[in-house]
Amino acid sequence: MTNNKTNKSIAVIGGGPGGLMLGLLLQQQGYDYTIFEKANPTVNNERGGSLDIHDDSGQLPIIETGIYDRFKSLVRYEGEDTKVIAKDGTVIFEEDAEGEGGRPEIDRGELCDIILEQIDKEHIKYGYAFESLERLSNNKVAVSFTNGEVEHFDLVVGADGAFSKVRPYLSTVDLDYTGISMVEINIDDVKNNYPELAAYNKNGKAMALGGSQALLAQLNGDGRIKVYVSYRAPKEQLNTYKQLSLSELKAQLLSDFDGWHEDLKAYIHAMSDDVLFRRIYKLPIGFNWNHDAQLTLLGDAAHLMSPFAGEGVNTALYDAYIFVEALKKYDDFDEAISYYEQQILSHAQERAQESQDNLELMFAPDAAQQLGEFFNSVKSEE
Ligand SMILES: Cc1cc2nc3c(=O)[nH]c(=O)nc-3n(C[C@H](O)[C@H](O)[C@H](O)COP(=O)(O)OP(=O)(O)OC[C@H]3O[C@@H](n4cnc5c(N)ncnc54)[C@H](O)[C@@H]3O)c2cc1C
Repeated sequence: MTNNKTNKSIAVIGGGPGGLMLGLLLQQQGYDYTIFEKANPTVNNERGGSLDIHDDSGQLPIIETGIYDRFKSLVRYEGEDTKVIAKDGTVIFEEDAEGEGGRPEIDRGELCDIILEQIDKEHIKYGYAFESLERLSNNKVAVSFTNGEVEHFDLVVGADGAFSKVRPYLSTVDLDYTGISMVEINIDDVKNNYPELAAYNKNGKAMALGGSQALLAQLNGDGRIKVYVSYRAPKEQLNTYKQLSLSELKAQLLSDFDGWHEDLKAYIHAMSDDVLFRRIYKLPIGFNWNHDAQLTLLGDAAHLMSPFAGEGVNTALYDAYIFVEALKKYDDFDEAISYYEQQILSHAQERAQESQDNLELMFAPDAAQQLGEFFNSVKSEE
């Protein structure tokens, strides 16, 4: 590694899993970097649901940074339990996780925490929301934040998620609505409060599929079941739902799932007042941008895809890994960033296609049959 490279100052915009992991890897290589995160540190349950971390992508930087043992102490291998159910309650596929599989589950908040634990505090600034940037004549970039601060860097990495404010400096391409909207509901401490539902759901994912609707349930590490009540629906439908009181919303969801088996409607009956509305967006598959020596993207900012292949966080972590591998491989900083972009964009393109194919499958008229048969065929090949 040349001094020339480690002297570069790097701004990482966004302290999600991707930005944090990039920061830790840069720190371990001796780079001058700062992570800017718009939020303030929050508690685990406000920081997203459970994510499966894949051994061929998301786990690579976890091993590289030496936090694998910590990761292993928190992951739930039993979280790989999988069930596919038709809307009449027929269980089409069911598999209980055995031993240590390659895709264990961890809550997003815990994943962020174990990376953050290793980051020197002076390298992360909270309450800094990226506002704009300006390319200066001395090859530096001036980054402005909504709190009025301005800082100068050699390179800015936009790791600021789906609705990235950095991305528009590299591309005019907009996000596409996938046609899927979700009402995210939570069932707290399910083992104690709803033991029958806990036994029905098991320790992992239960996917009830019924054509244009789905109930996608997942046990989280904090004892909640998070259910993505999902619809193939126009974008506007959620506007109506957002106006409803909690009891009206519950009645609406029960009415939408009228005719579904009682075992499945039990998830809605048990919902708490912790509700989130989500429209699922994506970038066009194969999204790219013209290389810019001062600016690049990572994670959802670079390749937002729908969550139906469970690849989003894995590609974000993989990007961070490749970023630092590229810096090790090339003496020239700019060449390294070009190489990084080529590698991550082709890797993400395949995952984005898989996510889109899964979306089509999971909202097809015979979705439960198709997905059940798919899992059964994979199982019989093992
Ligand atoms: C319903 C749902 C379920 C999902 N399930 C899975 C799954 O099972 N498996 C999986 O792999 N992926 C899943 N994902 C996707 C996964 O959550 C994302 O792909 C992953 O979090 C991307 O990480 P990231 O670091 O790129 O971005 P994010 O996690 O979005 O982090 C971006 C960070 O940037 C910060 N930020 C935003 N704007 C600014 C700004 N202007 N200035 C400064 N900071 C800013 C945000 O506060 C945030 O901390 C799911 C997504 C959804 C919506």
